[in-house]
Amino acid sequence: MIDPFGRTVSYLRVSVTDRCDFRCVYCMPEHMSFLPKKDVLTLEELDRLCGAFIAKGVDKVRITGGEPLVRRGVMTLFRSLGERIGAGGLRELTLTTNGSQLARFAEELADCGVKRVNVSLDTLDAEKFRAITRWGDYAQVLQGIDAAQRAGLAVKINVVALRGVNEDEIENLLRWAHGRGFDLTLIETMPMGDVDADRTEQYLPLSLVRARLSEIFTLDPTPERTGGPARYVRVRETGGRLGFITPLSHNFCESCNRVRLTCTGMLYMCLGQEDSADLRAPLRG
Ligand code: SAM
Repeated sequence: MIDPFGRTVSYLRVSVTDRCDFRCVYCMPEHMSFLPKKDVLTLEELDRLCGAFIAKGVDKVRITGGEPLVRRGVMTLFRSLGERIGAGGLRELTLTTNGSQLARFAEELADCGVKRVNVSLDTLDAEKFRAITRWGDYAQVLQGIDAAQRAGLAVKINVVALRGVNEDEIENLLRWAHGRGFDLTLIETMPMGDVDADRTEQYLPLSLVRARLSEIFTLDPTPERTGGPARYVRVRETGGRLGFITPLSHNFCESCNRVRLTCTGMLYMCLGQEDSADLRAPLRG
């Protein structure tokens, strides 16, 4: 698939559920109303659609949500997609998770062919973690991360940089992640979803975070990419990799290679635009 700007689309992000066991303040209101089951694609429908994208040249699929690992039976989808890894099929099958269910599923994910996992973790302070996620259990997430590492999965920690919330912790998060051999990626808050909080209060430009980190660490730019939107530096003092995802202060449209599929079968060609195509109606038809 080549888009009208000449960009090859080879990366599909698939949301397999709108449900989540956390209520992160920047992502969802506390009292969410979720979609009726009939509107959500079945696991078989998701598998079939992914197969169609793979046949069209997609070689990387990221499973996301909501929280993908709270969807009942989701491992059957991982199992089936895992069988498509290899020549002419997928190069990579991965997921983004809040980590709450990783202790249960890490081994099985590895067994399905998953090699890397992104875990969202915005703080190393258990109380702050509860305040950000509202419902999350910090110890459970850390156990999940441990399990992922034991299962041989490469872990990348995703941190949303939040003004006045975790901005004083970013150095610590970086030392902790790199100390454990994990990449760390910082994400700017984006105006997505329907939340109760005021976003302008949460927005922390990563240019500022980067300038502050440069006073403590030596950040060597590297051309390394993992096929996603992050730009990376190597931190000389820790030897680890640090990524920046800066949709607001620095767009990454020119290198965009991905499209998104929602759990209702809507295909979004761009995270920042409403333009979409319904794939559920033709699929069910
Ligand atoms: N439940 C999974 C998780 O926690 O990673 C997957 C879905 S979650 C929506 C994917 C990522 O988006 C997480 O790293 C989360 O922190 C981030 N995210 C959610 N809302 C965001 C926002 N408004 N701005 C920036 N990142 C956001």
